[in-house]
Amino acid sequence: AKSRGKDRAQLYMHEFTLALESKLSLEQHIDNAIETNDFTVFFQPIVNCQDNQIVSVESLIRWSHPELGMIPPDRFIPVAEASGKIIKIGKWVLRKACEEFMAWQKRNIQLDYIAVNLSPMQFKDVSLLDDIQDILSATGLAPNNLVLEITEGVLVRNDSITKNTLLKLKALGIRLAIDDFGTGYSSLAYLKYFDVDILKIDRSFIKDIPDDSVDIQITGAIISMAKNLNLHVVAEGVETTDQLNFIQDNHCNTYQGYLKSPAISSADFVALFQTD
Ligand code: C2E
Ligand code: CA
Ligand code: CA
Ligand code: CA
Repeated sequence: AKSRGKDRAQLYMHEFTLALESKLSLEQHIDNAIETNDFTVFFQPIVNCQDNQIVSVESLIRWSHPELGMIPPDRFIPVAEASGKIIKIGKWVLRKACEEFMAWQKRNIQLDYIAVNLSPMQFKDVSLLDDIQDILSATGLAPNNLVLEITEGVLVRNDSITKNTLLKLKALGIRLAIDDFGTGYSSLAYLKYFDVDILKIDRSFIKDIPDDSVDIQITGAIISMAKNLNLHVVAEGVETTDQLNFIQDNHCNTYQGYLKSPAISSADFVALFQTD
């Protein structure tokens, strides 16, 4: 099934490329997709390692194109970044995510936070902070229910604009997570300079546990370092009970992965939460 998924992904890529070479530019495709509701946001539960209950959630964009079918985010996010369109998409995802969280709250679905991915490109947008504040006040989401996921690349850059933006986000009460931890440039020094709250261990370290002894050491060390720095730890891509047992034994706080659930629609998330 895995290799069939890969073949299909390659097929999409081919068709996607052909579509982009045709009359419409990617920008037009993306504008159309926003207007015709071809983008949706899916939600992946974040689960407490100890009792396996859903405590938080990550927002993940989906593009279902009328002719090309499902276009995976790994395919169009990089193109959207290159064209600057990620700024518009990112705002749209953030608004949707906040709206859904508020709708869930009304149905008594209480979660610690909703996480939204922030592309490095969005940090170059001078209106980022204003836009985030506008979305929070328009939707009524409390800032401490929002987590923004950023990659190590953003922190390594260490320019004053990025630093200032991160400080202001923190001052609003928004929490920050380092996404795909361990895969970036990782001087680790940035942990000293930026006040992050959550560390997400990349799936590449989890996927070969318990067979790979190096991954076992690395994952154990990341969890213990994070704990000592008072950071909350999320393990990404947990698919097996062996993997869950390992991170449980190492006192990891939470996990995401197919073992619990893939990213699902808002309606499916509500149903899963209520039967959990
Ligand atoms: P990510 O932020 O690291 O998200 C985790 C990815 O791992 C998601 O893929 C998720 O569906 C997948 N995943 C979760 N659990 C498992 C598991 O147990 N096994 C496996 N094999 N995969 C698992 P997805 O949704 O295809 O997203 C891919 C990437 O696209 C994301 O990686 C993120 O970098 C980017 N992305 C998605 N949505 C957005 C968005 O709204 N904004 C931005 N800037 N990037 C986004
Ligand atoms: Ca993420
Ligand atoms: Ca990640
Ligand atoms: Ca990733």
